[in-house]
Amino acid sequence: MNYSKKTVTDIDVKGKKVLLRCDFNVPQDKATGEITDDKRIRAALPTIQYLLDQGAAVIACSHLGKPAATFDSYVKKQAEKGKDPASVTEEEWKKSLQKLSLAPVARRLGELLGKDVVMASDVVGPDARAKAAALQPGQILLLENTRFEKGETKNDPALAKAMADMAEVYVSDAFGAVHRAHASTAGVAAYLPAVSGFLIQKELEIIGGALQSPKRPLVAILGGSKVSSKIGVINNLLEIADTIIIGGGMAYTFSAAQGGNVGASLLEADWEDYANDMVKKAAEKGVKLLLPVDTVCADAFAPDANTQVVKSGEIPDGWQGLDIGPETVALYCAAVKDAGTVIWNGPMGVFEFAAFAKGTEAVARALSETDAITIIGGGDSAAAVQQLGYADKMTHISTGGGASLEFMEGKELPGVACLLDK
Ligand code: ADP
Ligand code: MG
Repeated sequence: MNYSKKTVTDIDVKGKKVLLRCDFNVPQDKATGEITDDKRIRAALPTIQYLLDQGAAVIACSHLGKPAATFDSYVKKQAEKGKDPASVTEEEWKKSLQKLSLAPVARRLGELLGKDVVMASDVVGPDARAKAAALQPGQILLLENTRFEKGETKNDPALAKAMADMAEVYVSDAFGAVHRAHASTAGVAAYLPAVSGFLIQKELEIIGGALQSPKRPLVAILGGSKVSSKIGVINNLLEIADTIIIGGGMAYTFSAAQGGNVGASLLEADWEDYANDMVKKAAEKGVKLLLPVDTVCADAFAPDANTQVVKSGEIPDGWQGLDIGPETVALYCAAVKDAGTVIWNGPMGVFEFAAFAKGTEAVARALSETDAITIIGGGDSAAAVQQLGYADKMTHISTGGGASLEFMEGKELPGVACLLDK
């Protein structure tokens, strides 16, 4: 994939209507609807501010959550949850949509920008079209949740064209959604000159740069829960990295594949052959593959479980490995020390419990102390680094969990591929 894409600074936006796809998919309090973390809104500010300063009229849009775009699909979802379809009312459906309105985002965005954000009550309906038509340079309009339109996730060309018709330029800054080929993330680019905002530009420069021409040695640290969810990443990074470090829950599948006892640890028995293939492939390619040598295991999956440190492959029956052990920590931290680039995806243990956060914390600290370019991808890894207080020390924490994973898998990202090449 070509990562060299035109960005907002490469085109003239002065006096133009700019359709800006943001990632305003923010977490909200279930009961009050209050935005519990506005990080994603803040992340969008540089591009929005730049466009406004340039004298563009900004028509922002985003999805929020997973609304049922039609009553039928709402009934289906409720039925899947075990509800009697006959008892589901349209009223209920409309209420469920209201909960996913972007109106609270418009208010928060207005506070952060220190200016009015006009809110449209629809995406491409009469209200949105009228407000977009009336929008002046330096003003900003936010369209309603793009997923209220059933054509959004289907990448319906009619919806994409209707969105494009309101604007003259398309800017995509929703890195968190670029792995999806939806009307507002990719389809719309067929009808307008399409460029990236600053967020996507940075993701492409840093992650794309590390994948294409990394400062070596390139060390990839892979962890998290399952091998099956990281196959693509392991496979792709085996082609690129000098060293691959395995931790987290997936390490036990590697251990079991080598004949070790993993007790009650997370194990994907179907993936053992695959794990062995990866070890073989690493050897063939001359990639150093590091596996844990010891593990912290517990007698229950609980924050206050009894724990003991054992050698890898020697976990007693009934016990489960929930973190890498101290010898492994030392080994992994040493491997990171002289790296030129470190890509990290997946925590080393169940960091959500303090008793099993030591491995993840030690690796985070080691990364914070290297001179290497440090890149964190994956939703939980980003959360772990933030929670442990090392966020400021990393070169880059990706703003897209799923998108960064697909990026590291070497997959084409539809929301990037559709942008103009430099
Ligand atoms: P990311 O979102 O960064 O890609 P994953 O979703 O793959 O990461 O994995 C994160 C989850 O893996 C965390 O919730 C963590 O608790 C879990 N995990 C890590 N190590 C283990 C383990 N040894 N056993 C069970 N779960 C684990
Ligand atoms: Mg995750």
